[in-house]
Amino acid sequence: MKQYLKNTWDGIWTVLIGMKITFKHLFTPAVTIQYPDVKVPLPERVRNRLYVNIDDCIGCDQCSRACPVSCIEIETTKAIPGEDLGTTSNGKKKALWVTKFNIDIAKCCYCQLCVFPCPTECIYMTDVYEFAEYERENLVYKFSALTETEAVEKKANFEKFQAEKEAQKAAAAAKPKEEQKPVN
Ligand code: SF4
Ligand code: SF4
Repeated sequence: MKQYLKNTWDGIWTVLIGMKITFKHLFTPAVTIQYPDVKVPLPERVRNRLYVNIDDCIGCDQCSRACPVSCIEIETTKAIPGEDLGTTSNGKKKALWVTKFNIDIAKCCYCQLCVFPCPTECIYMTDVYEFAEYERENLVYKFSALTETEAVEKKANFEKFQAEKEAQKAAAAAKPKEEQKPVN
């Protein structure tokens, strides 16, 4: 009988010890949050998804050259005389059409090295960190403001302009030297 009571007490005592932490936490405030409805505030200088304000991009390619994993792909074409691309918000005159500006964010290691050399501060880290996708190709972000057709058109315009310039140069060079002499 004595042994029976001892075993019963040992059982109760073991359960009480096991439940000690549970009981303690019943009366302490919760540290978990109802994610994703509630989110933890991010540190001020956190590095997450990149964004490019393409209106301010001058197509200088410095961000792409700084990227250690080559995940930024930029293509540009020169504007022809008569095309006014305007200026950036910090006053830099735009002279190139940015026909392609893709970032493969799946390759990005969030080092931020592309951000610092940008002369117009138009590429920067945002606080967006939830951007999972089912399809790999959806992680290639396209920032160019031009459609593919417009990009082809801009390139063709510049090539035509170049060809005309070359033709004019060739025609001038082919003129007899006498004709090129200034009249006194
Ligand atoms: S954060 Fe780093 S890895 Fe990502 S695009 Fe910029 S330079 Fe490349
Ligand atoms: S460094 Fe800035 S301005 Fe130059 S191509 Fe990159 S985003 Fe555009």
